[in-house]
Amino acid sequence: MPIRWRLTLFNALAIGVILIILGAGLFFLLRSALLSGVENDAETRAVAAARTVQEDGELEDAEQFALQGVFVIVRDEQGRVLEKTTDLSSGGSGGTDSVWREALSSGEAQGGTAQLSEEAPDYVYAVPVNPENSRARVVEAGRSYGEAEETIETFGTLLAVGLGVALLLSVAGAYLLARTALRPVDAVVSSAQEIGESDLSARLPVHHRRDEIGRLASTFNELLARMETAFARREEALDRQRRFAADASHELRTPLTSISGYARMLEDWGLDNPKASRRAVAAISKESGRLTELAESLLALTRGDEGAQLVRARHDLAEVAREAVETARAGAPSGIAVDYESPSAPVEATFDWEKIRQTITILLDNAVKYTPTDDHEGRVTVTVGERDGDPEVSVTDTGIGIAQDQLPLIFERFHRVDESRSAGGAGLGLSIAKQVAEAHGGSVSAESTVGEGSTFTLRLPGGKLETLDEPRGNDK
Ligand code: ADP
Repeated sequence: MPIRWRLTLFNALAIGVILIILGAGLFFLLRSALLSGVENDAETRAVAAARTVQEDGELEDAEQFALQGVFVIVRDEQGRVLEKTTDLSSGGSGGTDSVWREALSSGEAQGGTAQLSEEAPDYVYAVPVNPENSRARVVEAGRSYGEAEETIETFGTLLAVGLGVALLLSVAGAYLLARTALRPVDAVVSSAQEIGESDLSARLPVHHRRDEIGRLASTFNELLARMETAFARREEALDRQRRFAADASHELRTPLTSISGYARMLEDWGLDNPKASRRAVAAISKESGRLTELAESLLALTRGDEGAQLVRARHDLAEVAREAVETARAGAPSGIAVDYESPSAPVEATFDWEKIRQTITILLDNAVKYTPTDDHEGRVTVTVGERDGDPEVSVTDTGIGIAQDQLPLIFERFHRVDESRSAGGAGLGLSIAKQVAEAHGGSVSAESTVGEGSTFTLRLPGGKLETLDEPRGNDK
């Protein structure tokens, strides 16, 4: 059953019970007031008339006591009627017998009902006068209940009709109230039904922000907003993933095409031509090296995306940097000097040795790769230190530099500033470096001037060992 009807029914029931209790109370109160009014009238007249009979021996002017529908009867000790103000023959006089008889025999005033007229019963009050005496009298005064009962009946009918109308009005009012109060719910429901997965930007109408329905709609709107953001983020992540897969297959295809081309060349005439076959084998070996490197980079990124666990421990950052510098120095062309400025004290930090070594190596490889050796002496300098309590490694080169508008993009996957000058890289090195740094709760940043050189800085958080079990978030 709809809430609207349940509310109406509950209201009707509550109001109905209240009205019935009130109505019944009022009815019985009025009834008892009217009936006791009749009895009081009869009693006071009977007492007054009896006093007169006592004093004067008789009731000369009985009519003066018989006003406003009250009748008076005076009987002797035998029950013979001496005075009367009503026509007893029209109603059965026998009804009064018991009352006056009881009064006379008991010597005390008695009240009771009698049927003197045919319409309604009467109330009779009998007062004995000199009951011990031979001239005993009994004075009766009575009044019909008829008028009071008529009033009670009319009042009862009016009350019932009034209560019925009041009940109907209150039910109708309760229904209208419930309908008005719940109308915004219908609006909310129909708006909510119109919101589809594709249209999460739609919002429910909020008419009165402070009432229950307004609060419900506002809460729903907040939920929608959160869902919209989550969906947008999911879409973005899916997009990134799609782009990543497309770029990865594109990058894989290039060396593969090259390998299959040289293999065909070998097949066609390479074996009879030692020079050509040497060229083909060298190219195949170079391309398969590139392919392996690419596959390793893709694997590293995917593992990082999946949140692979880091093997963290407390190490000296200077030590890992020194090791990476030595390897880079060995592989660097003769025109480039790779310098290492060791700090005066160990720079302790909590990190995964292998991953951080790989990151410093990426920065070093790039520095060497993008520093030309043809016309001037290139220099790559690695420094280790602390800034604001955070350990950091900086790799500075005197290379080609990066344009300011490219700086924010170079950390994106597969982004190369200038493909012709990218020295064969796939554009994944810096995104791996960024991923590793962020998995440690740190960062990699770049500063550069075109033609002068660049500085890449890897910064780790300067926390102590207690952060060991709480790897910081990796937002990928
Ligand atoms: P890649 O494998 O192409 O080197 P990276 O992700 O390591 O990919 O670098 C992305 C791009 O950023 C490079 O293609 C290059 O254009 C630019 N870059 C990176 N390091 C340097 C540097 N030290 N000097 C100049 N350009 C750089």
